[in-house]
Amino acid sequence: MPPTPARSNTLISNLSAVATRITAASSKLSPPKETPVRLIAVSKLKPASDILALHSAPVSHQHFGENYLQELQEKARLLPPTIKWHFIGGLQSNKCVSLARDTKSLWAVESVDSEKKAGLLDKGWGDRKVEVLGEEGKGGEQLRVFVQVNTSGEENKSGVDPEEGVVGLCRFIREKCPRLKLQGLMTIGAIARSRATTPENENEDFLTLKSVREKVVSVLGLEGKEAHLELSMGMSEDFEGAIVLGSDEVRVGTTIFGDRPPKDQARVV
Ligand SMILES: *Cc1c(COP(=O)(O)O)cnc(C)c1O
Repeated sequence: MPPTPARSNTLISNLSAVATRITAASSKLSPPKETPVRLIAVSKLKPASDILALHSAPVSHQHFGENYLQELQEKARLLPPTIKWHFIGGLQSNKCVSLARDTKSLWAVESVDSEKKAGLLDKGWGDRKVEVLGEEGKGGEQLRVFVQVNTSGEENKSGVDPEEGVVGLCRFIREKCPRLKLQGLMTIGAIARSRATTPENENEDFLTLKSVREKVVSVLGLEGKEAHLELSMGMSEDFEGAIVLGSDEVRVGTTIFGDRPPKDQARVV
């Protein structure tokens, strides 16, 4: 499964260029961020060898994002348990238990959009066997989840309506799902707004996600560390604009890995 040296070099230089851009965008923030922006390398539909190229020393990148359950589970079985996997794709209720229970080294689920799915993830996480846990997950740790918010109101996007339901779902996760940790809020946003996003041109979806966070923090009365709900926003087209608006985590695929093949032509190995 080793990547070719040429492919490795391309991926490493793409990742390092993205990291440099993240640092540059972050340096514009005042006050400066306490923790650096987390970069999720979105590896969906890309081979396991690409991931290994970035996870191997000296780069040792840790956070990778996947959209499809079967593909994620196959990659997680093949690749080192030191990878921290993020499920960022559309969640189906009937797959939530397996996602949480059977995926090795699962670090976060970013696309929670209903109480039912949250409850099933909670159940699945409780049913995990020791061999599924990652390096970090040994000590009864909770599964990190993000609530996905449909900030653009587009019908083809999943996520909870920003006006209705976000606070209730966050409350449900905190009060009824003891094995889940509410890590933050996630949005994808409208593609047209992404294309128009520049550091000067503020993206409305990102502003909406920020204000939804304020609302959740105030209505639920979160304080101290708990009030630090993260914002997962920003992709290849718009991650610098997202960082300027306070993103804690960006999810970048194409700029690192290149264009993706059609799903039926994608191969893990
Ligand atoms: C595919 C995907 C990404 C990465 O998109 P790029 O434009 O390739 O950077 C980020 N977030 C989600 C939820 C995705 O599905």
